[in-house]
Amino acid sequence: MDLPHKGILQSPALAQYVYETSVYPREHEQLKKLREATVNKYGNLAETAVPVDEGRFLSLLMKIMNPKRTLEIGVFTGYSLLSTALALPDDGLITAIDISREHYEVGLPCIKEAGLAHKINFIESPATPALDQLIRDQGEELFDFAFVDADKTSYKGYHEQIVKLVKVGGVIAYDNTLWFGFVAKEEAEVPERFRNDRNAILQLNKFLASDPRVDVAQISVGDGITLCRRIQ
Ligand code: SAM
Ligand code: CA
Repeated sequence: MDLPHKGILQSPALAQYVYETSVYPREHEQLKKLREATVNKYGNLAETAVPVDEGRFLSLLMKIMNPKRTLEIGVFTGYSLLSTALALPDDGLITAIDISREHYEVGLPCIKEAGLAHKINFIESPATPALDQLIRDQGEELFDFAFVDADKTSYKGYHEQIVKLVKVGGVIAYDNTLWFGFVAKEEAEVPERFRNDRNAILQLNKFLASDPRVDVAQISVGDGITLCRRIQ
C-alpha cells in the first residue's frame, strides 16, 4: 500500500536530514536490525512503524519519566516497543497488546538479542477486551505511561479504559493525531480510504482538548503525537 508522506517534515529531504543527523548515528544496533527486518519482510508496509525520530523521542521521554510499568497498544514488528524497552529501568515492565502476534515475531529476535525480552508481556488480543481484563484482574492506576498506536477509530474508546489504567500524574501518548496532515484539509481533499480514520482523529483531538481529566500537548513529531497527562 502506498502511503502519503507522513509527518510535519513535509519535505522528505528534511526528514532524511533529521534522521541522518540526530538519529542514525546513535540508533541501537538491534533497532536498526529490526527496522531492516521489517522492510525485508513487508516492503512499503514497513512505513506503518513509527518513524525513527519518533522512536528516539519516545526513548528519551522514557528516560526523562523513568516509568516502571508501561502499556503499548499496537505493536506491529516492535520498533516503538524496542525503543521504549531500551530506555526502561531493568525492572521495568511493558504490557504490549496487539490483535496479531505474527508481525511481532518478525522483530522478536532483535528484542531478544538486545536482552530485553524479560521486560515485555505480549498479549495477543483485540485491545478492548484485553484492557477490560486488566482492569478486572489487576485494578486501576497500574501504569506510568501508555503508548497507543492501533486502530484509530477505537482511540476514543481506549481513552475511557486507559484513563483508568494510567496513574494520576502518568502520561498517555496517542500516535498519528495529525493523520498525514489530513486533519487540516477539507474532507473533499482527503482520499476516500483515509476519511474514516481522519474523522475519528478529528473527534478524538477535539474531545481530548476539553477532557478535564488530562492536560494535553500536541507534539509535531512523526505523524503527530498527543501527549496527555492524567490530572484527575
Ligand atoms: N507501534 C508500531 C511500530 O512502531 O511498529 C506500529 C503499530 S501499527 C501502526 C498498528 C498495529 O495495531 C498493527 O500491528 C495491528 O495489528 C494493531 N491493531 C489493529 N487493530 C487492533 C486492535 N483492535 N487491537 C489491538 N491491536 C490492533
Ligand atoms: Ca503510528
